[in-house]
Order: sequence, then structure tokens, then C-alpha cells
Amino acid sequence: MKRACFLLLLLSTLASAQHYDVLIRNGRVVDGAGNPWVYADVGILGDRIAFIGRADPAVEASRTIDAKGLVVAPGFIDMLGQSEISLLIDKQATSKLTQGVTTEITGEGESIAPQDDFTLREARDFLDHFHLTVDWRTLDGYFRRLEQNGSGVNIGTFVGATQVREVVLGKENRPPTSEELAKMQEKVEDAMFDGALGLSTSLIYAPANYASTDELIALAKIASKYGGIYASHIRNEGDSEMQALDEAFRIGREAGIPVEIWHFKVSGRQNWGKMRQVIDRIEQARAQGLDVTADQYPYVAAATSLGATIPPNFHAGGQEAFVRRLQDPEVRKQIRDELMGPGTAIENWWRGTGGPDGILVVSVLDPALKKYEGLTIARIAADQKKDPLDALLDLVIADRDNTGAVYFSMNEEDVRLAMRQPWVSVGTDYGAVSTTGPLSESRSHPRAWGAYPRILGKYVREEHVLTLEDAIRKMTSLAAQRVKLTDRGLLRTGYFADITIFDPATVIDVATFEDPNRPAKGVEYVFVNGVLSLDRGKLTGQTGGRPLRGPAWLARDYYPDGLPPRAKVEGVITDDNGWPLPRTTVSLADSTGKQVGSYQTKKDGRYQIVLADLCDPCTLHAERMGFASARQAVHYNGANSLWFSFSLKRAPTAPADQ
Ligand SMILES: [Zn+2]
Repeated sequence: MKRACFLLLLLSTLASAQHYDVLIRNGRVVDGAGNPWVYADVGILGDRIAFIGRADPAVEASRTIDAKGLVVAPGFIDMLGQSEISLLIDKQATSKLTQGVTTEITGEGESIAPQDDFTLREARDFLDHFHLTVDWRTLDGYFRRLEQNGSGVNIGTFVGATQVREVVLGKENRPPTSEELAKMQEKVEDAMFDGALGLSTSLIYAPANYASTDELIALAKIASKYGGIYASHIRNEGDSEMQALDEAFRIGREAGIPVEIWHFKVSGRQNWGKMRQVIDRIEQARAQGLDVTADQYPYVAAATSLGATIPPNFHAGGQEAFVRRLQDPEVRKQIRDELMGPGTAIENWWRGTGGPDGILVVSVLDPALKKYEGLTIARIAADQKKDPLDALLDLVIADRDNTGAVYFSMNEEDVRLAMRQPWVSVGTDYGAVSTTGPLSESRSHPRAWGAYPRILGKYVREEHVLTLEDAIRKMTSLAAQRVKLTDRGLLRTGYFADITIFDPATVIDVATFEDPNRPAKGVEYVFVNGVLSLDRGKLTGQTGGRPLRGPAWLARDYYPDGLPPRAKVEGVITDDNGWPLPRTTVSLADSTGKQVGSYQTKKDGRYQIVLADLCDPCTLHAERMGFASARQAVHYNGANSLWFSFSLKRAPTAPADQ
């Protein structure tokens, strides 16, 4: 009896000795894998989830959150976030954190790296407006800048096929020479080594549109080699969507790479109702063994630049050339003919939205044009007493192609049908914006603020299009699996503590097309890498986001055999004339003198000692009969590869008898 008491005492001491940084009690835990919710407590230590289960009442934490009535889920992953630059303007990521997003995947066609003088010149208006200096050229440089800057959310990115094309070819409308293509491939390889998630395209825009399928396959093969995926804004989401899908499938097959269809939709009034056919096409490809998935934002309107209304051919040469060309009456006539004429291969936003009433201006860069934000092209044309297409072209000229617009081009039934597919994840397709500061200057698309709460409130709670658990799976583990984030997207001990806690009874988007810059309701707490970023619905100002590097970062995780990297100590042993020395014993001893590896050289004099564990400090010995032995101190951290070569001196011959 006494003994039992002692045991009980010991157990309770053990339990109360456990101390977490954060303990979330009494919540309904939805783990992200699609499993039904369970009651569990979640403990956080540092940046990781340390405990999931029922915590003894005696367990203590620096901060305890009572999540009674709330859902505790993995942080949401935005499959197309677009915040790589916005975060440098305002690191808070307000519109993301307030809807529960903790990780963003980004880099659509034109990516944050590589950069050169040409790409920076093209972005100058924007960079100057926000007083931004670009001090990086490579993806690694950007990631370092982001780390220094701080970020509200984690960021992983693709390298854009268009970005590498612009660095090598500018905005010329021609195929690359074989040398130029090889250079583009090198740029993709560099970005993969820096941690890109794969290759991306956005094929309705110039100069992306100038790339042939073969060019894209050549680039995708490089991404594939280093474990990346291919993500695409396909060449047409309207009249020629099937052909555009087939192109993406061909790239997937011929480059041997998984395919992600970005912002999956059927666009253009004339195509409404075709979602079933489009889904069948994708299901067919999956059945044939192609790894293809998609993501979407839950709205019937798209958003892109106003200039995107004008077919890609007219954009050749870059911003200056494009804006100048739009002033030519002959060019304006050609644009009009193409947009008003019968269907063509280009994505025709003018026709797809039903014309000027379906296009809403949401952001301008030039302050003098602010009055047009929030107006449709039809309204602007009426105010200016102009033909609508002329009004559109004149606005693109006046704002130097920096205007953003919303396009009402989709149908609610198609949106819902796509949402129900098990392989469709979620993205906002809109960079972080805010209610204060420089990122609050313009209007936005409501998806910027409400995509996730809209699914949880409207489509799960009100309309039962999805179950809560499946919606959360799509927002978390499906996305994480897609871009190979192996320690995020689920609530599991050992995973990073990216956690979103919301009220399933009240969560809802409130941003509208008329009044878009309004934070969603019902998201109560958000942790990013264990950092409390949203507390009772309010931003804390703490930023816990990190760069998320892809599979080939410094080749750390990528090896053809799928095994973790095996580093080594290697080199060549020669005599003092430079000839390789066979039969030399090279050995490595730890600080206690114990031998941890050895190798005997052959004809080529090379040695190689493969080591799994840290050896610091260690000593490398090279010994051979007839030669003076040599030694070298070695600092081996268990992952680096070291190269030490020795040139051994012949041992002095014994003095002759006198
Ligand atoms: Zn896009």
C-alpha cells in the first residue's frame, strides 16, 4: 500500500514536472489527415508540437489556452500565396494570419529569383513606389533577406520558367537557341539547389506565353532531377482548357514530374458548366498514372492585371514597348478585332466576363488614378464618355500597366464541383494585404482576406459541400504532401508548431467585392513555428515565419538512392614528385585516439572514408612504408565533405656504415 502511494506520488510529480511553453486545452483536434475530430490537449515546446493527448490538470505551461468549443487544426497552407514581395513591404502578413494561413507557397511563372538588371528594370515602378531595394540575385539571397526581415508566415517558392527566360532572353518573342536553353536550365538548377520547390509557369501572360511545350519540358526535367514538381497557371482556362491541360500532362509525362494545376477553374461565360468534363480529363490522367492535382480559391471572380486583357503578342519587348504600342491606333484596332472576334487560342477576358461590366478595377499604382479603384470598366467609360475598350486601354497606358482588376468569369456550380474533388487543395492567389500601412492603399479581391474562412463558414457549415475534416485536410496535409513539406500540415508530435484555432460556429469571410479589405471572423489563435501570431483574433506583432527550402537545397536531402546524404573525408596521396602512392594507409582517429575509419589506397592514390557521425576534433594519419608519415587535424560535423591530400616525403635512408 505504501509502495502504491509512493508510485502515485511519483507519477503525479512527473506529470506536474512537465512544463510546456504553450498548452492548448479542451479543443476539438482535427489532425489534418481527414480523421474525425477528437478531444485532446496540445503542448508546444519551442517551435515544435511536443504533446497531443489528455494532459493531467497538474501539467503546467507558460501560456495555457482554453480552446473549449474551438477547433484546433494544423496551420493552413496557401498553395498560391503571392506574398514574396509584400512581406518585404509589411512583414505582418495580416490578411493571411487573420484567416489562419501559416505557410505560403508562391512563385507563379515570374518568381522572386533569379534577378538581373532587366527583370529589376521591369519592376522599377512597383519597387520605387514602395521604396524597396532588391539586394539579391539568387533564391538563396532572397531567403537570407527574408530571414533578416522577418515574416509572419513561412514561405516556400517555385522558380519560374518565365523568370529564367527573362534573365536569358528578356521579353523577346522567339524561341531560345540551344545555348540559351542550356543557360536557362542552369538557372533552374541553381534555384533548385537554393531550395526551390520545383518549376512553375503562368502561360497566359507575356513572355511566358512565348515558350513552347518543348522548352518547358527541358526546364521541367531539371526540376524533376532534384525532386521538384511542376506547378502551372495553364495556357488557357477557358475555350481551350482541354488542350491546355493536355500540355500540362505532356510536360508531366515527358519530364517525369508531378503536376499541380494552379487556381483550378472553368473561365468564361461561354464555358460555364464544363467543370465535369474538365474533372473527367484530370481523373483520366490520374487513372493512367500521372500524378496530377490542383488547388482553387472559392470565388466566382478571378483577379489579375488589367493589362492581361490584351493578348500576349502585344506585350513583346517589355513594359515600355507595350505601353508605347498601345498608343498606336493601328495596334488598338488589331486588339479590338482580336478581342471582339471569334474565339482564338488566347484567353479572352473581355469575352469571358461578358465585357466591360464584368471587369472591376481594384488597384492602381499612380495616385492620380485612385478614383478609378472600385469602378467597373463600363462605369469608367461612361464617366469619361468613351468607348469601353478605349477606356481600358487608356487606363493601362496611364498607369503604365500597373493596374489590378477583378474579372467575373466563373460560375458557382463549377466552383463547388471542383471543391468536392479529393485532390483539390486551397490557395488565395493574392499577396498579403493589410488594413493599415502601405499594403492597405488599394482595394483587393476578397479572396485575399477570406478564402479559408469562406470554405469553413459558407461551404462547410452553411452549405455542407464538404465536411469540416475534409476541408481542413485540403487546407493542410494535402498541400504539404504536394510540395513535400514533411514536418508540417498535420498535428503530430515532433512536427513544427504551425497551429490554427478557430470557432467552427462563427468562422466566416466578411470581405466583399464592394468592401474587400476586411479581416475574416472566427479565427482566434494562430501559431507559426510555435510563435503566437494571432491572440484572441488580434495580431500580436510577433513574426514566426521562415523560408522553407525545397528538396535539393545544397543537395542535402536529394540522393538518387533516396537515402540521407553520406558525407566523407577524401583526397589523394602522392609522393613528393606528385606521383600517386598506392598501399598507403589513411586512418581517422577521434580525440581519444580511437580509430573511426581507415582506407588503403590503390594505384590512383585516392582514399575515401565515409563517416556517419560527427568527428570534431579528429586526426587524419597517412602512413606508408619508406615514407615519413603525415597527419592533419580534421573538423567533421557529420554532414560536410572534406578534402585533404597529402604529399609524403621519402624517409631518409639509413646512414651508411663509415
Ligand atoms: Zn495565375
